[in-house]
Amino acid sequence: MNAEKRRAIFERLRAANPTPTTELEYGTPFQLLIAVLLSAQATDKSVNLATRPLFARHGTPAALLALGEDGVADAIKTIGLYRTKARNVVATCRILIEQHGGEVPQDRESLEALPGVGRKTANVVLNTAFGQPTIAVDTHIFRVSNRTRIAPGKDVVAVENALLKFVPREFLHDAHHWLILHGRYVCVARKPKCPQCGIADLCEFKDKTPA
Ligand code: SF4
Repeated sequence: MNAEKRRAIFERLRAANPTPTTELEYGTPFQLLIAVLLSAQATDKSVNLATRPLFARHGTPAALLALGEDGVADAIKTIGLYRTKARNVVATCRILIEQHGGEVPQDRESLEALPGVGRKTANVVLNTAFGQPTIAVDTHIFRVSNRTRIAPGKDVVAVENALLKFVPREFLHDAHHWLILHGRYVCVARKPKCPQCGIADLCEFKDKTPA
């Protein structure tokens, strides 16, 4: 895909949604961190249902630590892998309090050192809470980047590097959300909605769904 096409795609995505953001509900960087941690292999909707009452009463590292592993597990038991996630949440809260003054660190290394926080979660937090131009490649971004040929790659790291290299700087911060939302609602896994897609004439996917 050439640079003009890529630019045209992001101009269209921006025109359709000028200020994209995550569908996870949060009030602070800490709450976003916890919500993203809980969202592994779960839908944003299911995470929001659990975190809404949880954050209303226990929205800080100290409060979640005080709630304890069993209390957190009980509050998030509608989410997959909730026992492991509860353990990671409480351990993360303890480290934030003991090593970071109760704040979420703003560097990748410290974030990835937190239990249950991998590269993807760190990228989402850096991008969405702290405004850094990172791209967390999830299943949606991976699929859209490869189908369209915006940034093809064999694995998530290759796609992340291709996006960081090829997406024009002015679009880099929001590219993450535009691509996720496009993959979630339009360029869906099984039968992409090509006839309704706003970038179909620019997309280089060979097996587009016919009208
Ligand atoms: S045209 Fe189809 S394959 Fe290409 S981005 Fe749109 S929905 Fe996806």
